[in-house]
Amino acid sequence: MNLVALPAFSDNYIWMLHDDHQAIVVDPGDAAPVAAALDARGLALAAILVTHHHPDHVGGLAALRPRLQGPVFGPAREAIPPPFEPLADGDSASALGLSFQVIDVPGHTAGHIAYFLPSAGDGQAPILFCGDTLFSGGCGRLFEGTPAQMHHSLGRLAALPGNTRVCCAHEYTESNLRFAGAVEPANAALAAYTAACRALRAQGLPTLPSTIAQERAINPFMRCEAPDVISAALDQGAADRSGPAVLGALREWKNHFR
Ligand code: ZN
Ligand code: FE
Repeated sequence: MNLVALPAFSDNYIWMLHDDHQAIVVDPGDAAPVAAALDARGLALAAILVTHHHPDHVGGLAALRPRLQGPVFGPAREAIPPPFEPLADGDSASALGLSFQVIDVPGHTAGHIAYFLPSAGDGQAPILFCGDTLFSGGCGRLFEGTPAQMHHSLGRLAALPGNTRVCCAHEYTESNLRFAGAVEPANAALAAYTAACRALRAQGLPTLPSTIAQERAINPFMRCEAPDVISAALDQGAADRSGPAVLGALREWKNHFR
């Protein structure tokens, strides 16, 4: 399987997984980059996976339906443009001979789901399509959910295999890492990763996919139990040392961080 990040809008990625004949795309907020990528490679569109209802993730659905040869899969608890096959925690989505496991990850939106592919064939590493829940070095804003929900959702993603390729829906890495550096200035893995990501961006390349192991090492929102993260959160007014309180304080701080 080939995994490709199609840039869309100013900082979205529409992920495409294909076998040189057929493709799956994830969160097509815009149809044009998807159509161009399918045409350029001579691919049929076998299925679409949607993580949540925001326009920058579903805006291209209507225009892609005429060439779609299979289902649109989407979150059962959100209103995305119909028709679609509704999925919730524990369900699976089948396409291209692959089986994606659905994980409920509320927080950014109330019904947000993620898709985990344990095996992409040929011994390839697992893949996670996490929409706007987990970003490299950060997490989505809490538009419809609570810090406790996001803490639980990120904990479930952190429990996936370390070599899982993390396919986030936005290129927010550099700004996230500036914030992460303020939270954990002494994190050596974070400093090394920040330098590597800067080099990629300087060449115009995506910083994604990341990996679960990388995020566990550098993402403050996945490190709410680390002593330095807890003390930084307490300095920012976290009510106590619990994971939800730490995550809530980090999220508030990040919302205003420059
Ligand atoms: Zn969103
Ligand atoms: Fe988004």
